Amino acid sequence: MNIIVSSHGGFCYGVRRAYNMVKDVLKKKKKEIYIIGELIHNSFVVKELDELGIIRINDLDEIKNFNSVLIIRSHGMPFELIEKANSKGMDIVDTTCPFVKKAQAYAKKLIDEGYFLIIIGDKGHEEVEGIHSASGYKGIILDNHFEFDFSVFHKHKKIGVVFQTTQNLRDIGSIIPEIFKNFECEELRVFNTICDTTSNRQEDAKTIGSQVDIMLVVGGKNSANTIRLYDICKAAGVKTYHIQSAEDLEKKMFKNVTSVGISAGASTPDFIIADIINKLKGIEKE
Ligand code: SF4
Repeated sequence: MNIIVSSHGGFCYGVRRAYNMVKDVLKKKKKEIYIIGELIHNSFVVKELDELGIIRINDLDEIKNFNSVLIIRSHGMPFELIEKANSKGMDIVDTTCPFVKKAQAYAKKLIDEGYFLIIIGDKGHEEVEGIHSASGYKGIILDNHFEFDFSVFHKHKKIGVVFQTTQNLRDIGSIIPEIFKNFECEELRVFNTICDTTSNRQEDAKTIGSQVDIMLVVGGKNSANTIRLYDICKAAGVKTYHIQSAEDLEKKMFKNVTSVGISAGASTPDFIIADIINKLKGIEKE
């Protein structure tokens, strides 16, 4: 079995940075450490941090002792929550990825300069909520331009666009003309806030997908960038499985398969990919 592994797999820059920052905080631990939600969307890493004593909560109101540390996750957090934690005197450790910060900064800039803001991304995703909060919750989040009623907003003449960092480059080609046409705007300003890691991963997954019998896309079921990789491979016509670890592999998946491609979401630790390769070799031997 020929196994092709994407050279753009494993932790991305932003995830590695966040993970290392949290490990540093744990080393110097003097106070309780809280995090709202998950540092990254990977159940193995989340479990590891839980076991190391990071207290995972859903809301600031769950914190009883504010003489403690709050970690801002890699995909950011709504600004008002960070301000509230600050005002309560908590120590803030901000692991927000610089690419996410860039999207937040452009969203704010567009609002400050009088543009009607469109954030292209998944409604309800923490990163998108954070970007929206940076704009003071002005503008709109556009997650499905096929079903969107543009008529409500068509009066805006100056439109500014930013993207969730993990959006699919391929889709953008169809969204931008749609916005331009439906808004009849005089000016359309677009900031490409898709991060390099995401674009490289997507391109590589597509290339590998065209060379193999099946693709394995590895990552959390709640990881937006992993889901997008899966969609890209599937759309390219290759049989694709979204798996979280080697445990999800079954022998029957590889009947008559001579080549397998592996791509992975940005929050997938290297050891999970190594486990998968080992298991594939075991299946081949059998
Ligand atoms: S995928 Fe990109 S934006 Fe997201 S954490 Fe990684 S480097 Fe940052």
